[in-house]
Amino acid sequence: RDPNVKKPAWLRQKAPQGERFQEVKESLTRLKLNTVCEEAQCPNIGECWNGGGDGIATATIMVLGDTCTRGCRFCAVKTSRNPAPPDPMEPENTAKAITSWGVDYIVITSVDRDDLPDGGSGHFAQTVKAMKRLKPDIMIECLTSDFRGDLEAVDSLVHSGLDVFAHNVETVKRLQRLVRDPRAGYEQSMLVLKHAKMSKPGMITKTSIMLGLGETDEEIKETMDDLRAIDVDILTLGQYLQPTPLHLTVKEYVTPEKFEFWKTYGESIGFRYVASGPLVRSSYRAGELFVKTMVK
Ligand code: SF4
Ligand code: SF4
Repeated sequence: RDPNVKKPAWLRQKAPQGERFQEVKESLTRLKLNTVCEEAQCPNIGECWNGGGDGIATATIMVLGDTCTRGCRFCAVKTSRNPAPPDPMEPENTAKAITSWGVDYIVITSVDRDDLPDGGSGHFAQTVKAMKRLKPDIMIECLTSDFRGDLEAVDSLVHSGLDVFAHNVETVKRLQRLVRDPRAGYEQSMLVLKHAKMSKPGMITKTSIMLGLGETDEEIKETMDDLRAIDVDILTLGQYLQPTPLHLTVKEYVTPEKFEFWKTYGESIGFRYVASGPLVRSSYRAGELFVKTMVK
């Protein structure tokens, strides 16, 4: 951490509790499922697993292994040029476990797999199809890589039956090279989100921006305006936190009031829903957000 920037009190984590949380946690242990929520010790676990006021429990799982072919400077996932090949049984096994578990809304995410010809899109799509077959009312969001801009890979995922297509632009245009792997980029992420929206009528798209990396207000506005220009529906904004001393330092702790300001601004320019707060992560209460988006 930048020694001049002190971590404020509003980032303290609350201990998770609640009836639904306990229920979800118990079945998770029984099924031996690994969630990103637990592995990343996400501070929102109580809120997401309890499902908030609407009772829609959300959790995030990762497919395609734990080793990424890229190395972004904000991310603590391990990297390798040649990760192990994907487990062909994973889509079916994951679907069985998830659909027998008590969640209503599942976010499926993955590492980037530049080593696979389709970037892992087929594997994602098979997982979605298997889940919908076993539990048609489960709501599914896929938080994907940019598939190196491969629009056929985007198409096959968009048409797999998912409810929300999410891809994170992560930061403003100027900071892309500093923050993300050089194979990622602002234009490529915009292209992927735009294509997902156009590929299927009514497709809900979603993205996320981290704040506190040195971006200016004007740059945040520009990014939000660019996202609206390609009709992205849902936006989440959260504080960047440095995962280890080897990662990028935090330049600023953005206040809760400023996050509120961005929520108001985002909704004023037409996002159907904006979740914005210091501890908000891209899958934060995603089920509730999706349902609210649909009734708006
Ligand atoms: Fe982490 Fe994703 Fe970047 Fe891989 S592509 S290093 S998983 S943020
Ligand atoms: Fe899990 Fe995402 Fe919620 Fe964190 S924000 S608890 S990772 S669903």
